[in-house]
Amino acid sequence: MEFQSTLFQFFLPPQCPCCERLLEEDQQGFCSNCLSEIRWIEPPFCSICGIPFISKEVESHPCGACVTHRKYFTMARAWGAFEGSLQEAIHRWKYEGKTRLTPFFAEWMVKGLNRYWEPDSLDLLIPVPLYTQRLRERGFNQALLLVKELSRRTGIPYRKTILQKKKPTIPQVNLSGAEREKGLRGAFHIIRNEELLGKSVLLVDDVYTTGATVNECSKVLLRGGAERVDVLTLAHALKTS
Ligand SMILES: [Zn+2]
Ligand SMILES: [Zn+2]
Repeated sequence: MEFQSTLFQFFLPPQCPCCERLLEEDQQGFCSNCLSEIRWIEPPFCSICGIPFISKEVESHPCGACVTHRKYFTMARAWGAFEGSLQEAIHRWKYEGKTRLTPFFAEWMVKGLNRYWEPDSLDLLIPVPLYTQRLRERGFNQALLLVKELSRRTGIPYRKTILQKKKPTIPQVNLSGAEREKGLRGAFHIIRNEELLGKSVLLVDDVYTTGATVNECSKVLLRGGAERVDVLTLAHALKTS
């Protein structure tokens, strides 16, 4: 399927992955309309989870949720808001197999990585893993696609098997905070933790939704010997319950 669509791209002008409008000659990736709709995340935001504040008059500081509820990662940062055309594109990338979007997403994420971290301070990139059955259904782990591109562009090594998901979890959006945590407990485990000892890890996923998954992964990575865990996602969902 993907091969076929790649073939067609040789004969047809490329389409915008969001609205399917044909792109003009000098355009790549998104059309200018969809691109202009993307809300890039800028400070002020929560200094821990990275959620942007509505008021632009404040300095970045920890949000209420991060104060009342411990985050195991040091800081999470995202490139764009999970809404509109970016949400649509991520959906198509993930569920319709439009993997040609990966390099565009990765390019934004590299910019985010360079903006918020000293790349030399990061030892390892680790993708949030998928449960085996989910991986089989989808055919790829979207976080791993991003990690591979990030690693190639930054030179930071990645490990795809250290952190594993050993049981399925139900989608978390409709669950309360406590239910989410309960459902995730014991979902992830570490293999070969000698590779983690004393390392500064950047955990990578496509979307930061409630933060419960990356928080649980961060906890497991720290217990496995990592020195510090940070989180980079392509998008951050702005409305969390
Ligand atoms: Zn478009
Ligand atoms: Zn926060």
